[in-house]
Amino acid sequence: MNRAPNYRGRLAPSPTGHLHLGHARTFWIAQERARAHGGELILRNEDLDAARFKMEFVEAMLQDLRWFGFEWSEGPDVGGPFAPYNQSERMDFYRAGLEKLRAGNFIYPCTCSRKDIRSATRAPHANDDGEPIYPGTCRNKGDKWQVTSDKNPATASRITYHASLRFRVPDGETISLTDGNFGEQKFVAGKDFGDFVVWRGDGSPAYQLACVLDDAVMQITEVVRGADLLVSTARQILLYRALGLPVPDFFHCELMCDEAGQRLAKRHDSLSLRQLRGRGESPANLRSGWKTEISLP
Ligand code: GLU
Repeated sequence: MNRAPNYRGRLAPSPTGHLHLGHARTFWIAQERARAHGGELILRNEDLDAARFKMEFVEAMLQDLRWFGFEWSEGPDVGGPFAPYNQSERMDFYRAGLEKLRAGNFIYPCTCSRKDIRSATRAPHANDDGEPIYPGTCRNKGDKWQVTSDKNPATASRITYHASLRFRVPDGETISLTDGNFGEQKFVAGKDFGDFVVWRGDGSPAYQLACVLDDAVMQITEVVRGADLLVSTARQILLYRALGLPVPDFFHCELMCDEAGQRLAKRHDSLSLRQLRGRGESPANLRSGWKTEISLP
């Protein structure tokens, strides 16, 4: 696959709650970078988390983004060459990606629960993003894949796995990236992050896989996201490699904190775009202290 010649950035919110000012700041940087490069900005609705997803959040998300001043040229509401832009409608595409990983022997079935992992993890420390390092329990079990073919001819090519599927990371290898904001970054596989889930036991793709496949096929040239996802970026670089896909550039943004120094999260309702709007705040005012203007060399 050739890299798109022009800059293509994206906003990739998850509709699991209302967007807050921290999201808006990261997205604003993404928008400013796309503008500075004379590029495109696309909106992708990352609605794969069936347990937390709510339709009302999707509608609110679109309204809140528009209110704040975001403009996208492709997205779930406007269409575009890489439609659909709702991840929940792209399942066949993710299955094809998963099949490639399986064929390349990059993944293995894992039946561990979160609790199993917590109790089996020797060092109780989790890495930067709070994900415990997988202790490798199922890695070398040599379990046969529990695969069942669908009997329905219309969907016969679909395969159902009755376990989550993990990507086997190359232990000890340093994954490096030159971040557009933070510069040189290094993470050691097996130490800073462990084998990670690419497909959940409930039959849905995990964020890491869906995101990589979409960013690649949507020809995203630069991924702008929060610094909390730096370790995930290292995981994703391994996925790009395994899938033979071009790795985009990355720009990670500092996270916004509240007065107590706590990272803003969806629970900070008072700083949700919804509530700020309801209180009569103006987006321009909210942005006034942000230094997001991009000057290109
Ligand atoms: N949907 C993810 C999130 O909201 C996207 C992160 C990203 O890759 O930018 O955390």
